[in-house]
Amino acid sequence: MSQKENVNPKCGALTPPGHRKDPPKSESPPKGGAVTLPGTGRVPLESCAPPAPPLQPRTFSLEDFEVGRPLGKGKFGNVYLARERSTKFLVALKVLFKSQVEKEGVEHQLRREIEIQAHLRHPNILRLYNYFHDRRRVFLILEFAPRGELYKELQRCRRLDTPRTATLMEELADALLYCHERKVIHRDIKPENLLLGFKGELKIADFGWSVHAPSLRRRTLCGTLDYLPPEMVEGMAHDEKVDLWCVGVLCFELLVGHPPFESPSHAETYQRITKVDLHFPPFVPDGARDLISRLLRRSPSERLPLADVLQHPWVRAHSRRVLPPTYVPPQP
Ligand code: ATP
Ligand code: MG
Repeated sequence: MSQKENVNPKCGALTPPGHRKDPPKSESPPKGGAVTLPGTGRVPLESCAPPAPPLQPRTFSLEDFEVGRPLGKGKFGNVYLARERSTKFLVALKVLFKSQVEKEGVEHQLRREIEIQAHLRHPNILRLYNYFHDRRRVFLILEFAPRGELYKELQRCRRLDTPRTATLMEELADALLYCHERKVIHRDIKPENLLLGFKGELKIADFGWSVHAPSLRRRTLCGTLDYLPPEMVEGMAHDEKVDLWCVGVLCFELLVGHPPFESPSHAETYQRITKVDLHFPPFVPDGARDLISRLLRRSPSERLPLADVLQHPWVRAHSRRVLPPTYVPPQP
């Protein structure tokens, strides 16, 4: 299939095959013990508030949850809205079929992903509260992100305005700084892996999975090169500075509506990434151009550090970030 067939009618952006996903179709909840909420089978959004205390560390089973509507389709199974029966706490239940995980040979990576994400505590990183499994499936108990994927939001709005983009940049840079301090590299920052919380705040999702196998995953999905930095498309060693490149690509895509090196073919995208062939449409504000240009540097060591993204004048002038009352930034 040619990429031209994948033109997104809403934003007019080219979407390589397998990269961008269609909205999830309604699917039935997992068989074998899963229940649907009585009535419409939907859990009303309003029941998110007030938040219940986080789930206590203990052993869970599917019996502990009322399973509601599907939230999306994952590679190894679906994600459902669910309510923990005793606390009424709303979560997203991600179901992975063991047979598919084994078939792809990624069991080891899944274990490490759980290990990494379960230990990260940051308001802009999706919490992984716990997990359990039965004979056929693994269930991840995830924080529910009520406003869904940033990718879908971008499709809806085509482009985001300066205050929203600057706010997301601050949230993302702060969350990645927290990760890098813990020697965790995301390596797969893109709008599909960023979810939105109750107030539209950013939640990095799909953590750890991408840390261990980004290029493999891209290839499996006949994936895009759009967010890969030069050192990764060239198959060279890379470090946490790959995430800085992705922050720059994301900032461009949010403001413009498509990623900066998007081209009709992979070969052209490859060329444009390695040459850092960056051009801004006239409406991109000077401050944003400055930030993006400092992040999209071919040499990883020249990319603007995350702490400086947080202090960048354009981010400081426009960000409207609101933090939960209990959040205390980590001390240097
Ligand atoms: P892929 O490899 O295609 O990214 P995946 O196996 O990583 O799939 P996820 O991306 O985690 O699966 O989930 C699939 C979709 O379900 C997401 O794109 C999102 O729309 C929805 N979803 C996942 N987790 C949540 C959540 N915590 N809150 C709300 N929606 C979610
Ligand atoms: Mg995903």
